[in-house]
Amino acid sequence: MTASHRHDVLIIGSGAAGLSLALRLSTKLSIAVLSKRELREGNTLYAQGGISAVLDAGDSVESHVRDTLNAGAGLCDETTVRQVVAHGPDSIRWLFQEGVEFTRDAQYKDAEGYHLTREGGHSHRRVVHAADATGRAVEDTLEEQIRNRANVDLFEHHTAVDLIDAARIHPRAAASVSSGTSTSSADARCIGAYSLNSLSGEVETFLARFVVIATGGASKVYLYTSNPDVATGDGIAMAWRAGCRAANMEFIQFHPTCLYHPQAKSFLVTEALRGEGARLLLPDGERFMPRFDQRAELAPRDIVARAIDHEMKRIGSKYVLLDISHRKPEFIREHFPTIHARCLELGLDMTREPLPVVPAAHYTCGGIISDTRARADLPGLYVIGEAAYTGLHGANRMASNSLLECLVFGEVAAQDIERLAEDWPEPTDAPSWDASRVREPDEEVVISHNWEELRRFMWDYVGIVRTNKRLMRAKRRIDLLRQEIIEHYSDFRVDTDLLELRNLVEVADLIVQSAQRRRESRGLHYTLDFPQRDESQRTPTLLIPDRYRPRPPRWAD
Ligand SMILES: Cc1cc2nc3c(=O)[nH]c(=O)nc-3n(C[C@H](O)[C@H](O)[C@H](O)COP(=O)(O)OP(=O)(O)OC[C@H]3O[C@@H](n4cnc5c(N)ncnc54)[C@H](O)[C@@H]3O)c2cc1C
Repeated sequence: MTASHRHDVLIIGSGAAGLSLALRLSTKLSIAVLSKRELREGNTLYAQGGISAVLDAGDSVESHVRDTLNAGAGLCDETTVRQVVAHGPDSIRWLFQEGVEFTRDAQYKDAEGYHLTREGGHSHRRVVHAADATGRAVEDTLEEQIRNRANVDLFEHHTAVDLIDAARIHPRAAASVSSGTSTSSADARCIGAYSLNSLSGEVETFLARFVVIATGGASKVYLYTSNPDVATGDGIAMAWRAGCRAANMEFIQFHPTCLYHPQAKSFLVTEALRGEGARLLLPDGERFMPRFDQRAELAPRDIVARAIDHEMKRIGSKYVLLDISHRKPEFIREHFPTIHARCLELGLDMTREPLPVVPAAHYTCGGIISDTRARADLPGLYVIGEAAYTGLHGANRMASNSLLECLVFGEVAAQDIERLAEDWPEPTDAPSWDASRVREPDEEVVISHNWEELRRFMWDYVGIVRTNKRLMRAKRRIDLLRQEIIEHYSDFRVDTDLLELRNLVEVADLIVQSAQRRRESRGLHYTLDFPQRDESQRTPTLLIPDRYRPRPPRWAD
């Protein structure tokens, strides 16, 4: 008999979104937080630049809203943008109260003493930061706070496999192994999740009155990414399989400059370097950005990423160079301590030589549809953070708006759960996971080969520059891989690699389907077949799964 757990709230994910929600909920509620690895591992930990919020007296909510709408290339939901921007200052104050030490500067008296930087797309200085390691400061603080909460049980090294819907018995659950997926007479409602305990190898049952997906983005679907290994889109895939709609999955943000080094897995070199004068060069030393845009290295991220991609493909190079060595060494060490130290560890001295860089998948703008109260389509289920599509980012995310979105929707979800908690039903029982009919996997190589194949063809065919033909090629390969993975999933004992691959294929399919539907170039989606923007297509790309059922009145109100 495998373990079964019961809580008021199950939060899947322990980044800025999941932990801020857990801390915002009242201590009367019992909470479980699942994390795929150690609690701190996730995109939040690696965020460098900062968090945007209107704090300077010369800045305004209107200006932040306008900048966000401009960056989103016509596809933002203005209601959501206003909701998030208006909550910016309070979110920063809350983090400060929790103990986050942001960089301060006495000359910024108007900005409550915080030092503010300015990033691409922002018309004012409005990015609060903790030197060049903001995410670490946030995650460290939230982790410290959550470990002191008696009402919160933390489950590290637990990988959620699938959501449990009261109206549908999972095909791998004990009661239905012979009949496949079956339904019960209960109403559709999310009552928990099955989760693989990677330390014991058992799949455990987590039951809860409310379930929250805070699993982050899906950039691991690409060969090159700034994201850590956990970013495999698990929550997006789980909610999609459970019948929730997704939107705007074609909009993947590629960061122009990740360090290219065999040991520097996913190490990002912040945009602020270009802001401070760093130049992009070809391996022979030629500066190329002025050929692409009059703003040269300061052009928006998507333009710089496309230019680098173009030059790498044109000359057949594996990287380009980013050079800031003309600035004083003291300046570089003071402003970029983390990057400088990491590069030195890898034998690169950025005060004296250029850094090899490549563009890399960085941020998933689309996700599972979540409304202004953070509710997903299935009653009892919330989606927050990078896994969610709220309409904030539209066709392109503005720098430093994403951590803010995590904090605001963490708070919004907490308020909604508190409001409903009093009379929301207890979860019904669910059958435990059945591993009696599966075998140990015989050929691990199938999984590792498919992982590599998927990430490479997504990079080559569904990357920075797309075409109809490349998307069709990718779709054919996805269909084949999906078939193989489904067979593997039903025959063998599950492990994290298999579960992640199963989710990555699902997410890859959503990205390709969305990209095929958008027959124009807009924001982060660029296709050679339709290189212009077409205003008749100025709507989000909506994907509806077979299992989708419109929200029942009580959940939709
Ligand atoms: C290098 C880098 C720099 C960035 N810089 C900035 C910046 O300066 N400003 C900004 O606003 N944004 C930045 N971003 C984006 C921002 O960091 C993320 O969008 C944000 O941190 C996402 O937070 P999250 O809580 O949604 O997810 P994450 O922080 O990614 O957390 C996801 C959590 O879900 C868990 N999880 C995933 N799948 C499962 C599963 N199946 N079962 C159990 N647990 C699971 C993971 O273990 C993890 O705990 C940056 C991102 C990167 C990668």
